[in-house]
Amino acid sequence: MTLEKTLLVVGAGFTGAVVARHMAEAGHRAIVIDARDHVAGNCHTARDPRTGIMVHVHGPHIFHTDDSGVWDFINRHARMMPYRHQVKAQVGGQVYSMPINLHTITQFFGRAMSPAQAQALIAEQALTGPAPPRSFEDQALRMMGRPIYEAFFRGYTQKQWGVAPNRLPASILKRLPMRFTYDDNYFFHQYQGIPRDGYTAAVASILDHPRIALVLNTRAEDFGTDGVDHIVYTGPLDRYFGHRLGRLGYRTLDFEHRIVNAPYQGIAVMNYCDPDIPHTRVTEHMYFAPWEAGNHAQSVVTHEYSRAAGPDDTPYYPLRLLDDKALLRQYEGLARATAGVTFAGRLGSYAYLDMDVAIRRAMDVAEHLTRAFARGQVPEAFVHPI
Ligand code: FAD
Ligand code: UDP
Repeated sequence: MTLEKTLLVVGAGFTGAVVARHMAEAGHRAIVIDARDHVAGNCHTARDPRTGIMVHVHGPHIFHTDDSGVWDFINRHARMMPYRHQVKAQVGGQVYSMPINLHTITQFFGRAMSPAQAQALIAEQALTGPAPPRSFEDQALRMMGRPIYEAFFRGYTQKQWGVAPNRLPASILKRLPMRFTYDDNYFFHQYQGIPRDGYTAAVASILDHPRIALVLNTRAEDFGTDGVDHIVYTGPLDRYFGHRLGRLGYRTLDFEHRIVNAPYQGIAVMNYCDPDIPHTRVTEHMYFAPWEAGNHAQSVVTHEYSRAAGPDDTPYYPLRLLDDKALLRQYEGLARATAGVTFAGRLGSYAYLDMDVAIRRAMDVAEHLTRAFARGQVPEAFVHPI
């Protein structure tokens, strides 16, 4: 028999919702609170009241994974529609195919090439070196050579991250493939889709359980913990500790949403790689729902701008520069020494996590807690390796 515990889960994004759901299914109770007036955190989607278009309010979100357990889980809570993400990139007023593929290479160099010819050309231009690439720039120069790097990556990356690419980790670039075929699928995962009714409905379904109570518009700092056996905190790690060791760096995003009277760019996402264009990308939301794209007379378009997050801004991307990583180690030390609290999610672990990884890690956290409770133990600190 399960000895029922009560968890306070701070944050109703994917991480908080999945932990709560798994704990509830294991016989425990969860109170889930969020400072926002909606669930789903940064994956929040809402229909624009004037056009009826489903808007990705905090930036474009595409679900993609190789994890069949996670894919089964999301399919239990949402009708996932087939969607294959394609992105175009503008450089010098020309439109190119992204990620870099045979079409981009032939367009960029202005002539038809076989895969072998393109590969040979890139090999000629790519830097070589014995040591593993240290930085984003190092990785890019070895992978694609200087001309392609400078056109498509240097300016965009500087705008997106606010620092020179030679100060960024190589791991950021490793998220993108480079192909010597005409395959322009932005992702290389087995499963890919978009929930028909949006991410907010999917997260609401995850939270829809008799042993889960949801409290919105409420900050953790203002919520009592009487009767709570354990806290799962998915807010910013440094904020939990009152920033006492300093602030972890984040990028925030400004979104300029507007309605236009005709289709704007013919694709969901267009990147702007030139450094003198202030926005990084433009999203046209109706193309995320091709099954309803014909139903809309107008279109919703979002210009996205990136800048350093100030104390009152929404933290979107963890910066993870060297200084941040050193500070993170110290906060992790504090987290490990804080009994009764588990830190999780993108903000709680200060890690760049896609939705599928956030869900898998949330499942791991729930399993860890369930096991400890079943043994009558106080759960040990659980910090995912960074
Ligand atoms: P969040 O969604 O950030 O949720 C945390 C919640 O905690 C928030 O709702 C917040 O209000 C709440 N909270 C924080 N502190 C407190 C507090 N003190 N009190 C009360 N509530 C609090 N992933 C993909 O898989 N595919 C994509 O295409 C993709 N695109 C992205 C695009 C952008 C612009 C960004 C920024 C991220 C993208 N992601 C994408 C990643 C995705 O957003 C994350 O994986 C996901 O949001 C992680 O969920 P989470 O619950 O950990 O965090
Ligand atoms: N990037 C770029 N130009 C592009 C697309 C991506 O320079 O047209 C770089 C940028 O630094 C970005 C990284 O490649 O952060 C990874 O791309 P991804 O699409 O995963 O970006 P994110 O999810 O970080 O927005």
